[in-house]
Amino acid sequence: MNLSDKLAVLADAAKYDASCASSGGVKRDSTSGRGVGSNEGMGICHSYAPDGRCISLLKILLTNYCQYDCLYCVNRASSDVPRARFAIDEVVHLTLDFYRRNCIEGLFLSSGIIRSPDYTMEQVVEVARRLREEHDFRGYIHLKTIPDAAPELLQRAGRFADRLSINIELPTAQSLGALAPEKDGAAIKRSMARVRIHIEDARAEARDTARRPVASLPGAAPRRAKSPSFAAAGQSTQMIVGADATNDATILATSAQLYGAYRLKRVYYSAFSPIPHASAALPLQAPPLVREHRLYQADWLMRFYGFEADEIATPRSGGMLALDVDPKLAWALAHPERFPVDLDRAPRELLLRVPGLGVKAVERLLLARRVRRLRADDLKRLHVPTRRVLPFVVLADHRPGRGAVVPTVTPVPAQAALF
Ligand code: SF4
Repeated sequence: MNLSDKLAVLADAAKYDASCASSGGVKRDSTSGRGVGSNEGMGICHSYAPDGRCISLLKILLTNYCQYDCLYCVNRASSDVPRARFAIDEVVHLTLDFYRRNCIEGLFLSSGIIRSPDYTMEQVVEVARRLREEHDFRGYIHLKTIPDAAPELLQRAGRFADRLSINIELPTAQSLGALAPEKDGAAIKRSMARVRIHIEDARAEARDTARRPVASLPGAAPRRAKSPSFAAAGQSTQMIVGADATNDATILATSAQLYGAYRLKRVYYSAFSPIPHASAALPLQAPPLVREHRLYQADWLMRFYGFEADEIATPRSGGMLALDVDPKLAWALAHPERFPVDLDRAPRELLLRVPGLGVKAVERLLLARRVRRLRADDLKRLHVPTRRVLPFVVLADHRPGRGAVVPTVTPVPAQAALF
């Protein structure tokens, strides 16, 4: 099989992995003439697939051979798909080639499990090591790690990668047992805990190093010893949605637990895609993609807007998020007793709950109201979407009437068809 055929197979096999944010990484560039690539600045190509997945990384598997048989996975041992395997140097050179052509901003590398978790992990880490140490590659590297691999390999992976991820796969231990029996939920969480400890140790060491006095020879530029970094862009995970009957409330509760316990940067939600010759234990249809989108919105509310998981998807809605309105609006409509909110007096936490007000808009409002009482015209000047916000707020010259929220959720009337 030639390199481009392998690329076709192994890039296609990786398309279900949804992890590509590069924010928060160590800033590296090669403008000084040393090294190759950069993970910041102009000229870096960012693009998104139509379904919203970021494709600015070279996202591939090292191999799609796998000895495990997770029922939901197209690469499982019993799957009848074309197989391929890259040599380590092939991945290294592909990454450098794409990078130099400015097609990608980095590498996302995952792999099926071959021979053993340790052997597979060694191969994945070796790709990152050669890129960093032999080619001085300064782009972004995201490695999917294998939870059953030895802790030393995990530690080594974090030295070369900007981000590590360990897939939680499914929202509950029962689903994991039913659909991926070879995977060990406890091992997944142990590995996440180890990554968290390594990340925190590296950050503490970096802080200590920054406090130490700068050593320098007389006449030479001051030089501070560099502390080793570990997965500076943090760790993330991915959860498959819709492969089992778990509702959104349980999914969000699992995410909240993962964010709290392991300080994850992101939980990625990946809508289950039906696969050829699938097990009877799997649904025949994919969940609507909008469900994945609503989960991302709800996840955002938990991380930046102070919502708790059990406030967003409640038993009243069967534990599912509404598909027709976003979760913040759905919460506001379910809690009319909390509105209207006085924009001049309400605390930040309450302002963040007003549909249409984002984090930045709330900061702008808090600054503006120090100067004078806010009026409806001020919202426009502060780039606040007035049509969405006005039904929920009180201003010096505005108080919404009864049923004012209706225009924000009623579909725009359309002309009936004549034929
Ligand atoms: S271990 Fe990973 S690649 Fe292998 S079958 Fe399971 S999900 Fe697929």
